Amino acid sequence: MQRKGILIVVSGFSGAGKGTLMKKLVERYDNYALSVSMTTRSPRPGEKEGVSYFFVDKEEFERCIGQDGLIEYASYCGNYYGTPRPWVEQQLEAGRDVVLEIEIQGALKVKEKFPDALLLFVMTPTAQELKRRLEGRGTESHEVILGRLQRAVEESYGIEAYDYLVVNDDLDECLRQMNRIIDAARMRPSRNREFIEQFRTELNEILKGEN
Ligand code: 5GP
Repeated sequence: MQRKGILIVVSGFSGAGKGTLMKKLVERYDNYALSVSMTTRSPRPGEKEGVSYFFVDKEEFERCIGQDGLIEYASYCGNYYGTPRPWVEQQLEAGRDVVLEIEIQGALKVKEKFPDALLLFVMTPTAQELKRRLEGRGTESHEVILGRLQRAVEESYGIEAYDYLVVNDDLDECLRQMNRIIDAARMRPSRNREFIEQFRTELNEILKGEN
């Protein structure tokens, strides 16, 4: 039975390791397609156009908003970030599970538009560990790190809107856990309406044949 893909939204504090988790998830399991966002922020060393992000200027981003070319978008630490619509819709139609790695305002907009989306929130085991990982990354200034910790405080008040928490302590265990959650979500009755309908029809036919 061909089913539509699941839209999986992954958020988490900056520094919680979402990027690495997503990369490994796509490498290790077959059915995931990772959406590439559009942003107005500058590339970090090593980031590639069209792989890490589509890097655009503010004018181009706003043009895309105007053309309804984004599923959602948000402003984060002074820059725009958004999810390009056509690619995501194509993948879902083709039955692939699409992962959006986006922040909380965007996640909530996705939930509004796609009530069946699965929302996961990635955390570190402790707040100290989050600070340590942000500092260890070595790519951002002290001010930027402080801004991200401040943002983490704000985001922490939105966690309850998500479907599941994932604690990224051991990377492999975290991946297994995410995959189990997504597998379980595939079995929700709301995602298997056709299967249920078909089963009902068949049951009724069996009964008719018996009488
Ligand atoms: P970074 O600058 O560290 O790559 O990303 C900053 C934040 O923006 C992260 O929390 C990331 O998940 C989020 N983000 C990345 N792409 C999108 C997007 O398309 N939409 C939204 N709403 N947030 C995004």
